[in-house]
Amino acid sequence: MILRTDEPSTAMTPAPTRRLGVVRSGQPGPTLMITAGLHGNEPAGVIAVRRFLETFSGSEPGFIGEIAAFCGNVGASLAGKRYLDHDLNRRWSRERMMGLALAGPSDRDREDDEQLALSREIDDTMARARGPVYFLDLHTTSAAGYPFSMIADHPEQRVFALRFGLPIILGLLGQIDGVLLEYLRLRGCICLGIEAGQHDRSSSIDHHLAALRIAVVAAGLLPGDSIPSILDASQDTLRRARGELPLLMRVEDRHGIRPDDEFRMEPGFANIERIEKGQLLARDRKGEIRARESGILFMPLYQGLGDDGFFTGQALATDIE
Ligand SMILES: [Zn+2]
Repeated sequence: MILRTDEPSTAMTPAPTRRLGVVRSGQPGPTLMITAGLHGNEPAGVIAVRRFLETFSGSEPGFIGEIAAFCGNVGASLAGKRYLDHDLNRRWSRERMMGLALAGPSDRDREDDEQLALSREIDDTMARARGPVYFLDLHTTSAAGYPFSMIADHPEQRVFALRFGLPIILGLLGQIDGVLLEYLRLRGCICLGIEAGQHDRSSSIDHHLAALRIAVVAAGLLPGDSIPSILDASQDTLRRARGELPLLMRVEDRHGIRPDDEFRMEPGFANIERIEKGQLLARDRKGEIRARESGILFMPLYQGLGDDGFFTGQALATDIE
């Protein structure tokens, strides 16, 4: 794979506030709701949202509906940390939100307060929606690699995701409990999670910005012919970032590991890569771990702690490739 070696340029000034911007048309239509900075060490999404909103006045011909963008974890973003007390993207459920609302301030940690404040904005946005609600959650990763998108494996979620040209991974969201994307999908939103690349690369901002420009058209807030050159350039940016990877892939298997496995990934794999049956993927104390089938390798574990060694799956056919 080819990685761009651009300089880090993701300093976040001014400091983020909960509301990054709300632009509402006088004409009813779909809502595009966006969260960035749900993890505080991922400033690229916040920067991209700001750049996008600087160039979007709301008086564009044909603009309908509403754009509402929020910073997910303001406190952690100010501190430049993934989170302060616990991961804000692991505890989203209706039951928990009801419990949090009833809990006293002394029973809540800092992410609980963030979650309450963010969920109020989300609830208000959904209450004033005058059409379908589309939801984008913008993230970046600690390791370098291809940008990609994640959706739940349901047909109605695919149509929107296929408009972006990024690799789409199905089945990854189902591996983690309590993520905001799934919470909002169950509340009726069309949801797309974007991992735009490595945390501090300027190309990650470019990918998020391209996704935002595509999203306003794909969600139906702007007619496609209103910004043809910007739309083409944005789709081109994401298509080029995808390279030769398939458009649609599904995670089918997880290689879970325990600390005493002595698991070591073979060097050189990208975050998404085609593999052949029998190919050596990793080693542990029992010996070699080889691919059981030809297909795709996802998220090999090279750094940090975790109990996911890697995932494997298959490319799926689409009729638009
Ligand atoms: Zn994240």
